[in-house]
Amino acid sequence: MKWNKIILAIALITCLMHMPYGYYILIRYISTVIFGFMAYKYYKNKKNELCITFIILALLFQPFVKIPLGRKIWNIIDVAVATFLTILFLIEYFKNKKNEYSQKKGNLTFCNIHGAGSITCTDCGMQTEVTVFMHGPYSCEIGRQCQSCGTFFTEHNESKIYHTFGPQTKNTVCPQCGTINFRNGELYKRQDTPLFCPKCKSRNLQYQMEFIS
Ligand SMILES: [Zn+2]
Ligand SMILES: [Zn+2]
Repeated sequence: MKWNKIILAIALITCLMHMPYGYYILIRYISTVIFGFMAYKYYKNKKNELCITFIILALLFQPFVKIPLGRKIWNIIDVAVATFLTILFLIEYFKNKKNEYSQKKGNLTFCNIHGAGSITCTDCGMQTEVTVFMHGPYSCEIGRQCQSCGTFFTEHNESKIYHTFGPQTKNTVCPQCGTINFRNGELYKRQDTPLFCPKCKSRNLQYQMEFIS
């Protein structure tokens, strides 16, 4: 439904040409449905100004109670609405493109960084020290991020066998909010979910490694 704005904008422009009367009625039916649908979509996304704009447009275009404005005025409305839809489409299109890009960029996980260092959020400036993975011969510190509140913390693991993980012997509990992130008995693993800023939830994070073991 991403392209419905552009298709409707083109349909409105075709109304400037001499078309059979039924065509205008059809376009008004379609416009009312699409405007209503958009009003609902923006209401759900909490974009109230756009929601109200589309309710007004749906009322203006509805074919049941004709608003006698004359052909000239309707032509102006058609052009204005088509322009508005095109601009809105372009704004949303490039915003989505930007989001896709920043998500691709924002894919730090504990599996693709190493050692210990600091994480900086490029969106809000939050900076914090993190341990990703530090190990001795029979034990290691494993970096974790609470999936609920975003706090970074470490989990200690010991093993009787050189350079291996021992079994998980207790729940991994967030020291900040108490959420259980891994359960006792779960297979021991590093967290592979993308890291996010604890403050603003952005994934645009940078990692600066300071130590490695
Ligand atoms: Zn942030
Ligand atoms: Zn937490």
